[in-house]
Amino acid sequence: MDSIEPDSQVYRTLLESTRAIPWQIDWATATFAYIGPQIEALLGWAPSSWVGIDDWSSRMHPDDRERVVNFCVSQSQAGVDHEADYRALTTTGEYVWIRDVVHVVRDEAGQVQSLVGFMFDITERKKTEETLLALQKELEELSFRDGLTGVANRRKFDAVYDEEWSEARRNVQPLSLIMFDVDFFKRYNDHYGHVEGDECLKRVAQALSSAANRPRDFVARYGGEEFVLLLPASDEAAAKAVADRCRQAIFKTQIRHAASPISQLLTVSMGVGTIVPSGNDDPVSFIDLVDRQLYRAKQGGRDRIVAGAA
Ligand code: GH3
Ligand code: MG
Ligand code: MG
Repeated sequence: MDSIEPDSQVYRTLLESTRAIPWQIDWATATFAYIGPQIEALLGWAPSSWVGIDDWSSRMHPDDRERVVNFCVSQSQAGVDHEADYRALTTTGEYVWIRDVVHVVRDEAGQVQSLVGFMFDITERKKTEETLLALQKELEELSFRDGLTGVANRRKFDAVYDEEWSEARRNVQPLSLIMFDVDFFKRYNDHYGHVEGDECLKRVAQALSSAANRPRDFVARYGGEEFVLLLPASDEAAAKAVADRCRQAIFKTQIRHAASPISQLLTVSMGVGTIVPSGNDDPVSFIDLVDRQLYRAKQGGRDRIVAGAA
């Protein structure tokens, strides 16, 4: 059967009319044997300025260069077809995202003879990818935040608690936890209404956040009117001091609670616990222990701090 052999002019016309930019590198001399004229429209550099492989690598974003050059050279040496994404410099000093798709041509003896490839402008795709990633991050952020108060939610607390527990265990350091429960909050809602109740919870969250001032101190809303404050690398004395500060911070907000039988102002009960976690300790049991301290604070008359080591 006859095969149709287009002449080289047809090939050239085809190659130079695509949006992808064709090129060929002679492997032995590491020089460009050919690069499509489209390169000039994309990056501004004339085809004649693409002489050696250095012209390619030097027009690459410095943060991409080492990774991409090493990868492409080793793949080519191994005779493996490959592709790489990188930012190519334009003559005006901007960068264009390129996907370079490379085919390794060997001679009859199997020696690498040349590389041929296409460069694709993938800037738009990268932009979409970046937007998607940013959105994903934002969503993740939101999924870890309590919608009402803006502090971390229970889900986030669970994750951070696990991390800090392991960290404390590894470093043989104390980990402290304060659990808060607003006193007579049902009566607060009944008296002032649910909307005011929400406002009140926001202010409590703010007050607790203001009392936690080390970078790894971590406030979360644990449930309805319950909050937690995790204090890494803090011993019992430090935790008690923070609990005191929290109590003062709540007092300073001066939230009126006319329906409270124990005070004119909103009060909070707190349980405080400290542990240096070891192999036998269970993170859930420690939370239960602190919860029991909180219960004792309630039983003891509310508006107080009950502390104890695990
Ligand atoms: P105690 O002093 O024993 O803690 O009594 P309490 O009334 O604070 O405790 P209880 O568990 O009986 O009631 C908690 C209340 O918190 C009931 C619930 O409606 C309210 N609450 C939980 N989440 C929210 C919220 O997001 N907004 C408002 N406004 N109220 C909430
Ligand atoms: Mg409660
Ligand atoms: Mg309560």
